[in-house]
Amino acid sequence: MYARFHNSGWTALQKRLNLSNCRSYASILKKKENLSNNLQPGKIYHGFVCTEVEPIKEYNMTAYLLTHEKTKTEYLHLERDDSNNVFSVGFRTTPLDSMGTPHILEHTVLCGSEKYPVRDPFFKMLNRSLATFMNAMTGPDYTFYPFSSQNEIDYRNLQKVYLDAVFKPNLARLDFLQEGWRLEHSKLEDKTSEMVFKGVVYNEMKGAFSETSSLFGQKFINTILPKGTYGYVSGGDPLCIPDLTHEHLKNFHATYYHPSNARIYSYGNFPLEQNLKFLNEIYLSKYQYLDPANSIVTPQERWKMVQRANIACRVDQYGGPVEKQNQIALGYVMSDITEIYETFMLSALAELMIIGPNSAFYKSLIEKNISGGYNSLTGYENQIRDTLFVVGLRDVEKSKFETIESIVNQTIDEIFTKGFEKNHIESVLHGFELAIKHQSPKFGLNLLFSLMPLWNHNGPILNALKVNTLLDKLKTNLMNPSYVKDVIEKYFLLNNHKLIMTMQPDPKFDDVFTEAEAKLLKTKVKNLTPEQKEQIFADGIELSQAQKEIQRLDVLPCLKIDEITLNKTAPSLEHTISGTIPLQLCKANTNGVTYFKGVVGTDCLNEKLRPLLPFFNYVLDKFDTKSYNYRDFDKYVSKSTSGLSFVTHIAEHIDQQEQYEQGVLISSHCLDENLPKMLDIWTEIFSRPNFENGDRMTMLLTNYCSALTSGIIDSGHTYAMQAARSLLSSVDECKESLLGIKHIVSMQEIQKTHKTEDIQDIVDLIGKNILKGDNLRAAFHYSNATENLNKFIDKFCTNLCKGETNKDVNRINWTDTKPFQKENRGIHISMNIPVNFCAKVVPTVPYTDPDYPKLRVLSRFLTSKYLHPIVREQNGAYGGGAMLTIDGVVNFYSYRDPNSRVTMDVFDETADWMSRNKDLIDEQNLFEAKLSILQQMDQPVAEYMKGIEMFLYGLSYDIWQMQRERVLAVQKEDLIEVCQKYLTADKWAGKCVIGDGASQQLIKDGEAWETISGPQD
Ligand SMILES: [Zn+2]
Repeated sequence: MYARFHNSGWTALQKRLNLSNCRSYASILKKKENLSNNLQPGKIYHGFVCTEVEPIKEYNMTAYLLTHEKTKTEYLHLERDDSNNVFSVGFRTTPLDSMGTPHILEHTVLCGSEKYPVRDPFFKMLNRSLATFMNAMTGPDYTFYPFSSQNEIDYRNLQKVYLDAVFKPNLARLDFLQEGWRLEHSKLEDKTSEMVFKGVVYNEMKGAFSETSSLFGQKFINTILPKGTYGYVSGGDPLCIPDLTHEHLKNFHATYYHPSNARIYSYGNFPLEQNLKFLNEIYLSKYQYLDPANSIVTPQERWKMVQRANIACRVDQYGGPVEKQNQIALGYVMSDITEIYETFMLSALAELMIIGPNSAFYKSLIEKNISGGYNSLTGYENQIRDTLFVVGLRDVEKSKFETIESIVNQTIDEIFTKGFEKNHIESVLHGFELAIKHQSPKFGLNLLFSLMPLWNHNGPILNALKVNTLLDKLKTNLMNPSYVKDVIEKYFLLNNHKLIMTMQPDPKFDDVFTEAEAKLLKTKVKNLTPEQKEQIFADGIELSQAQKEIQRLDVLPCLKIDEITLNKTAPSLEHTISGTIPLQLCKANTNGVTYFKGVVGTDCLNEKLRPLLPFFNYVLDKFDTKSYNYRDFDKYVSKSTSGLSFVTHIAEHIDQQEQYEQGVLISSHCLDENLPKMLDIWTEIFSRPNFENGDRMTMLLTNYCSALTSGIIDSGHTYAMQAARSLLSSVDECKESLLGIKHIVSMQEIQKTHKTEDIQDIVDLIGKNILKGDNLRAAFHYSNATENLNKFIDKFCTNLCKGETNKDVNRINWTDTKPFQKENRGIHISMNIPVNFCAKVVPTVPYTDPDYPKLRVLSRFLTSKYLHPIVREQNGAYGGGAMLTIDGVVNFYSYRDPNSRVTMDVFDETADWMSRNKDLIDEQNLFEAKLSILQQMDQPVAEYMKGIEMFLYGLSYDIWQMQRERVLAVQKEDLIEVCQKYLTADKWAGKCVIGDGASQQLIKDGEAWETISGPQD
């Protein structure tokens, strides 16, 4: 995979990998002896000299920094009483071209290594492990390979595979052709058929820049930091990728994936010395030091003059009017990433300047209502050597560019003159404090993600971990007006390293690329010698055979059944009622933070109101309330809580397909002592804000609609599955109309046809209907069950229920589904993107049915043995698989797929394939399919999420445990049986393809397809 910045990237792959129903993550804290406390600074352990040992009080952990004596490999170990252990190997990879070498290398090292000569050991290990996270990431200047696991045997297994992959990969030529790029005959067996470009990364990158915001982000960095590695596309520009040779790839590996250029990280409560011993004996001791000077990124020479640039992008067919689809961004190069206090301070400064109704840019730019809101570049970017501050807008008319520029300059002048309000500063600082206390089960991974960019440039990582020290300094500084003045002057007023970049849609954008690609292809083909042509023909056939070969996976380590222990216990939940509000209370290890969640039912909304529910969620906390104007309310909220969250909630019934719940999930958290304030804030919300400010409503609607289309392409498979499911049931029809493509289309229609007053009426009516005490059920997680806590909660509830006439106690509000006609239907969502997303969905049985666990195991088996090998490895899609949703719909999908027609056939032929390949279900394969389900089911649960399935879906621990036992009991015959029973080609199904091309091609006999195209088509 590839990420411009790692966090955006890993979410994308995580979505792809953790496909099923796991909803929560967390760590189970287990007391273990402090195993590394004998490590002393200055002493040597297995070839590593321990250079520093530092207690990090704010996180209850100890940091050990070590250097390998011979190779100078750096090693950071964070010892903490947390069982979700992390391990990672990272390298500084700084190419000086856009051939995508580090990205293709990342793919190719995972195609087999000396000890593990199997293709995609990474993907194969997904089924042989209980990893809580596995990934590989290419950033702009580093590549790293992290995983986490709670099981020590598993951890050691993964460590072996990962280390061998990065240090001893085979980097075979055929793998390079498959993963990178190649020329291939469009008909493999036919030498006269024309040649085309193929390759996993080649296709991936064609897709990556279809998302307009990714393109803008990439070009912005390339332009503002033009010298050195940031001037290039580390993931690979599709027009440059075909210049990469296999030889260059191997050389790049030898230089950059060298221990002397490596940074190794471990976190958690497993013993450190075993890691050191293994690393030293098997790998590091066999290398000589190699000066990593060539990978160093030097700070960018600062500009003397402001610069400008303009680029083109594709037209967003589902976006607003084309004349408005322009973007502008103004960016400044800030401090060096290694100046940790500066970067810490600048991130606070950016928040003060940009976020929320009290910030200067929100007031001057957003409230002018001349755009669709901030674009995705806006904010402080501190993942690269020269950090950046960017403020930018999307969906603006070209004629507004100049105005925007002068507003930005004026706003900065104003900040310089007036500074920030004291209580605004306090609320931002409060957010930092709360974030330090909020405990995520991915804590060790999150630390790695935030340290890696800094460590990559040899920054002071141990000091960066001491956030309290940084925070104390920040508090003093920000409260001093002359400090703020100096900072604004230095980083903005006197800073000439500034880029103003604009982007405009070009209806010919794709043609330009297609022409350039065709031209490149022609040149490549023309220059081929007869021998090379023979080779291409032979390679094509050889590769296709190699892809079909059954691989010997037994060289890979695998967890055994007796090495798996169930480490979850039933959460202790207390159920009670206050007023008419059902409460679920859970005492947990929440580190001084109290968490609130609630569900308000929306079954009562009519067809006129319901489509605007997600918009209602978006605006609910953005207006004046009974006691506050919207600016003061925002200050109050951010000074006392984490902020309020409102999410459309649609939940299938776990044992009755005829029912579902629709509602809004509301949530927030706060420091224990702020609980009364947090509840007071929710009381304000339940007393209903005043939506009479028409200008504000118009502006919020514009921003809301503008943001809707971003991200569709990155999660295209999710949208495709969702749209396909909407053809099968009214639950999913409801989901599609509120969360899918249909919602985007209907909101644009609403924006065109409704007056602001209509919108205000609807929003107000939704509020009147649903914001009532008797329509709420609530859950609290807290660490201190004081008498006060109960008193506060009780007072809150009885207040909300005052004057309510409905005395029914609302548990879960079920809506009855309506019957659907069982005809095979399909949706083609037309979109001008070069690769497609396909989905086929088949209804089966709900969660509690005995066939459900069998289908669940089957879908994992099909993914790894059928869909992944054919759809990805043979057909060149970026991903493909099957998953089972909680209401029992089997979802087949492909991701960034160049070949929809073939993929759809593959989906349809599932049952035939299964009957021909029964022998593939041996003990090991069956076990692996089960293991990959346990991997999801046994994920650590965050303290603040304990028992939440019970609250949201009525899914108790006992039902969960029964499901787990049933999964483990599934037999070979069960898979064959349920496959024939539910998945034969004649079964009722829905289909969807998102992308370009003639939908006619996709339609089979007896299927009714409709086409949806965006308003800008
Ligand atoms: Zn990739």
